[in-house]
Parts: sequence; structure tokens; C-alpha cells
Amino acid sequence: MVFDLITIFPEYFESPLKVGLLGKAIQKGLLKVRLHNLRDFATDKHRTVDDKPFGGGEGMLLKPEPLYRAIEALKKESPEPWVVYLSPQGRLFNQEVARELLAKKHLILICGRYEGIDERIRQYFVDDEISIGDYVLFGGEAAALVLIETVARLVPGVVGCEDSVKRDSFAEGLLKHPQYTRPRDFMGYTVPEVLLSGDHARIERFRREESLRITFEKRPDLLAKASLTDEDRAFLEK
Ligand code: SAM
Repeated sequence: MVFDLITIFPEYFESPLKVGLLGKAIQKGLLKVRLHNLRDFATDKHRTVDDKPFGGGEGMLLKPEPLYRAIEALKKESPEPWVVYLSPQGRLFNQEVARELLAKKHLILICGRYEGIDERIRQYFVDDEISIGDYVLFGGEAAALVLIETVARLVPGVVGCEDSVKRDSFAEGLLKHPQYTRPRDFMGYTVPEVLLSGDHARIERFRREESLRITFEKRPDLLAKASLTDEDRAFLEK
């Protein structure tokens, strides 16, 4: 999986790409994250990448020419890269979108700044516009990191224990069941007895029911899309 990032702040990514499982995956070559400074695609001596919007109004916009040059240069690197513009106006990012993006293999991620990018780039040179939520950030860098971390988790081998990804919240349409570790008794609050029973079938059923319970309590909207068994439905109707 290759991520090419177009940004005016490549330094933003320095630490996040070195730490934890993401850092290890990059080191092992399981994924590549390449940083491209948009200013390197400007042609004037001041390396200008922004300009005022036509018609007046607040702020500055990223100009089309450097963005176009950057996209075209990176497109030559693989047969069918997928060009994504991180934008508060895009379709909402979630685990399903992450799986779709994983299948693309080569993503070119455009991080906007200021008031955003010239509309002609968005309209004619971008394949996908993705938002990480209904709020406005200073720039697309934080959004790109969210996207990279989420997709990277799905790349085989990145998370040592594959089951942990398969059982993550959203992976099967539900939230993950609550988990407990030692001590058994913490300030009088105890671990559910069934988890200490060693009875794997009972533990599995308990965890499934806990998943159903917390999804019902916290995100009932997810239940409509989740694939549920008759046993699950009977539990929810109780
Ligand atoms: N003026 C734009 C608007 O109202 O839609 C917002 C521009 S925002 C200050 C600058 C950049 O941050 C955007 O071009 C985009 O790349 C990024 N950005 C802001 N919020 C985002 C979000 N929720 N998801 C993804 N990217 C976001």
C-alpha cells in the first residue's frame, strides 16, 4: 500500500510516521508513506502555492498549477492511483470507506490549507473527496493521518494479531465488547464471573451479547446494517 501525501507542511508528519505500529509497518516495508512538499511544484522564485479568490472574500486558496503538477508527477508512479482530496465537504470517512481505499493500493492524498483548493482541481483531477467529520480543521494533514492509520491497520501483517483487526469495533458492524485485565477486583469493582470460567463457548456468547448491548446503547444506528443471527435478535428483543 502506497500513500503519497501532497502538503505544504511535510514536517507535520515526521513523528507520527515513526511511532507505534504505523512506524514499524513503514520500517518493515509493509506500507510506504511518501511526503511531497507542494512548494516543490511551484515555479516562481518565492515558491508560491496560494492566491486570493476571484470575486473577493476571505482567505487564500491553493493555486491549481502546483497541485496539477504534483498530481501528474505522482500519477506516473503506478498504473491507477486514486486521488483523494481531504475536505470537510467530502463523503464521511468510516471503516467501510477505509476498506474501499485499501483496495486501491496507491493513494494520492491532497491536504488542503487556507480556504481550500481551486475548484477546478477538485472537479477535474480528484477521484474522491473525503471528510473525517462535520467540523473544520486548519488543514488536511490531521485528516490524512486519520485516514492513513485506519487503512494501515487493515493491511495484512501491520497488526501482529490479525484477529484483533477482525474483531475491532465496526469490523462486523458492531462495537467491540468491553474488556478487562488484572486485577480481578479493582476497588471493589469486579470482573464479570463468566470471563474467569474458562468456558470458551460461554465467554464467546457473553462477549457477543455485550457487543450487542453496547451497540444498542451507544450506536443503535449500526444495528440496522449489522448481520445478526436469530439468537442476536432474540437477545435484543429481551
Ligand atoms: N473553507 C473550507 C470550507 O468551508 O469548506 C474549509 C477549509 S479548511 C480551513 C482547510 C483545509 O482543511 C481543507 O481544504 C481540507 O483539506 C482540510 N479539512 C478541514 N476540515 C476537514 C475535515 N473535516 N475533513 C477533512 N479535511 C478537512
